[in-house]
Amino acid sequence: MKFLYFLLLTLLPVIGMSQEISFAHNLYNTYESYREPSLNCRRINHGNILPLIEKLRHNSKFVVHKLGESVEKRELFLIKLGIGKTKIFLWSQMHGDESTATMALFDIFNFFSANDFLNEIREKILRETTLYFLPMVNPDGAEVFQRRNILEIDLNRDASRLVTPEADILMNTFDSLNADFGFNLHDQNTRYSVGRNYKQATISFLAPAFNDKKEMNEKRGHATKLIGMMDKVLKEFIPGHVAKYSDDYEPRAFGDTFQKKGTSTILIESGGWKDDTEKQFIRKINFIGMLAAFLSIADKTYMEIPASNYESIPMNDEYLFDLLLKNVTVEEKGRSFPIDIAINNDEQKSDSEKGFTTLSTIEDIGDLSGFHGIEEMDCSGLTLKDGKVYPKKIETNNELAAIDFQKLIEDGVLFLPVEKEVLSYNGKSDSQKKFPIRLVEATDFHFQLKIGERPAFYLFKNDTPKFVVLNGTVIRLKR
Ligand SMILES: [Zn+2]
Repeated sequence: MKFLYFLLLTLLPVIGMSQEISFAHNLYNTYESYREPSLNCRRINHGNILPLIEKLRHNSKFVVHKLGESVEKRELFLIKLGIGKTKIFLWSQMHGDESTATMALFDIFNFFSANDFLNEIREKILRETTLYFLPMVNPDGAEVFQRRNILEIDLNRDASRLVTPEADILMNTFDSLNADFGFNLHDQNTRYSVGRNYKQATISFLAPAFNDKKEMNEKRGHATKLIGMMDKVLKEFIPGHVAKYSDDYEPRAFGDTFQKKGTSTILIESGGWKDDTEKQFIRKINFIGMLAAFLSIADKTYMEIPASNYESIPMNDEYLFDLLLKNVTVEEKGRSFPIDIAINNDEQKSDSEKGFTTLSTIEDIGDLSGFHGIEEMDCSGLTLKDGKVYPKKIETNNELAAIDFQKLIEDGVLFLPVEKEVLSYNGKSDSQKKFPIRLVEATDFHFQLKIGERPAFYLFKNDTPKFVVLNGTVIRLKR
């Protein structure tokens, strides 16, 4: 009898979980039928979501309510769904350039609008819970794809003073709902690693602290249990890529404040996934994680998850670079040195069709063992060699557009002197996009391997150039 009781106790969580996991697999396999096709890149703005919200107004399942307006008079909406006793409040993109979860919320609306083999689960969630969504809290920031709002205020440091209309709306909405669960939806640096691991922290969770001592209470405990459940579900799809965000208490932040007010609050940070620059796969993972959480809340299965699940999630850490070249031979003053070179890529606003260009920087040089590259290359036997500066200064855009950049690289040229006006034309020709030779202003430019410099050099094997490293990418030379 005692044994049977023990068996039941250990099996219960497994039985509870298996439902969320099979639901998650169903969502993973049928995701395309729910994905909102009009949102397909990170740079989405208020104009992109307005027609989608307008569509929800005409759907009897949804109640759409205007909450107020941003500084630049863009409307914020609350979208309500379901009739259940347990209230769940979700808000996204209070940082204007953190749009991954916003895209996933519109996929979730499509999921609840659908009529298919998942009806039973769909109806259960809507019977047991009421869902409240506030997508894109910071539409003015989203308009120019920047973190802060248009007053240059970080909304997530305005939860106490409430100077900005956006923060004020978020707080008023929260207070009026008195929700049981809160989902605080953000994006984080794509270079966070899972502990010291080489894996990117694709999703990081946190049950924010409600005081400096980081104490636990029942409500915060519920948030940790739910995170433990979501972690188990996401392990099915991104094993080793889930981490935990730092839980330092910040009284000006919303998550911490809401936790303090007694709502079980969960922070979800969307990080990086290799070759998913536009975060479309991570969006899918968000969609699955949130829906599995709704089901678990509806069924209360998260209550069976032990606290140790949350505790065992590794912390976010900083052991990743975008590109790590290991064991490059560098010659200086007649001697050779084996060194590692770390390079990071960052986006800079530009008038290119994508709205940004990627600029790379040398971040570190030396012994970088213990660090990892999202792209990594063992350069043993390869020697770093400088490129030449093109002997003539380019004076017009037309002249630049006519240049065959591949040919220059083959001729040993990595630096192209241009007039100032031409510099702003940077990156327009296809040849230049493929072979991003550095444009410089000085005709006597000299490259130095140093931190903060933009990488542009050859890697030679004996006397033959094998690779060229240009703006964060390694190009293999054919010859
Ligand atoms: Zn954020």
